[in-house]
Amino acid sequence: MDDRTQSPMLAANPVLAHCLSGAVRHDWTRAEIQALFDLSFPDLIFQAQRIHRQHFDPREVQISTLLSIKTGGCPEDCAYCPQSAHHDAGVVAGKLMEVAAVVDEARAAKAAGANRFCMGAAWRSPRDRDLDQICAMVEGVRALGLETCATLGMLTAPQAARLRDAGLDYYNHNLDTSPEFYGEIISTRVYQDRLDTLEHVRAAGIHVCCGGIVGMGEGRQDRAGMIAALASLPAHPESVPINLLVRVEGTPLAGEDALESFEFVRTIAVARIAMPASMVRLSAGREDMSEETQALCFLAGANSIFHGPKLLTTPNPEPKRDIALLDKLGLVPMR
Ligand code: SF4
Repeated sequence: MDDRTQSPMLAANPVLAHCLSGAVRHDWTRAEIQALFDLSFPDLIFQAQRIHRQHFDPREVQISTLLSIKTGGCPEDCAYCPQSAHHDAGVVAGKLMEVAAVVDEARAAKAAGANRFCMGAAWRSPRDRDLDQICAMVEGVRALGLETCATLGMLTAPQAARLRDAGLDYYNHNLDTSPEFYGEIISTRVYQDRLDTLEHVRAAGIHVCCGGIVGMGEGRQDRAGMIAALASLPAHPESVPINLLVRVEGTPLAGEDALESFEFVRTIAVARIAMPASMVRLSAGREDMSEETQALCFLAGANSIFHGPKLLTTPNPEPKRDIALLDKLGLVPMR
């Protein structure tokens, strides 16, 4: 019988053959990423799964828990975000949580199976005096034997160094979308601001968690542009969260059309191929996603999820539903 692991479409396209080696590259072009998006669905999923297996055990899923340590009242105007003070999504602004309360939440997350604990604050950037408290949280969470992650907005180089000294393992700072579409979503900062913070985090020696959001009204060319931007960073982010827009009433994107599930799965697969050694995380938007779509995402190379009933201020699947789904698929938490 003929070997059908390479379809005629791939064999005839030398550009694609170069893209499908599974090697970690930083010279991705927009045209290459677009060509991956345009593959037939079976070709794309097969190649993503094949490359996934070059770098990871395909049964393992990394589990993170995310806690909002300072909610709402953010001065930024991100069109997707219910925590922005520019929108009226009914989120009540709160103060920065106490260190002991955060550590208690981390202990509970560990007991529920998490190995990474992420702390999110709705800030444009942290004030230096807030960092004292954040550093104490990082130290407390780390002492429990969990990996630590924070998302606090834009950082200066000295702030990144302080977080590193406190033992922060990961810093999340998303590029959100393509450079061209960015201005449609946020007006209070520019793409270069994001890149600058990512550079400070990387220079401090902290692992980078950086991805984006799809379903915000962008086109496929923007989804390709976002992945090209991520995959062209000097070092690939160790974690790449791919979020599906949660359409929250009161935000400017509440009335956006839902993104087709297969296009979401394609985005996961292309992220897997373009950043083959990174963890690709299924992030926001799982609450309304069928089990079948999530299973396709795992098949396409997603190998990380957020676990817990809430993602900052939006709902996430009940933990027992996640455990049941992983069981049904024969997937196990990564240790
Ligand atoms: S996404 Fe972050 S920076 Fe943007 S409004 Fe929400 S909390 Fe603020």
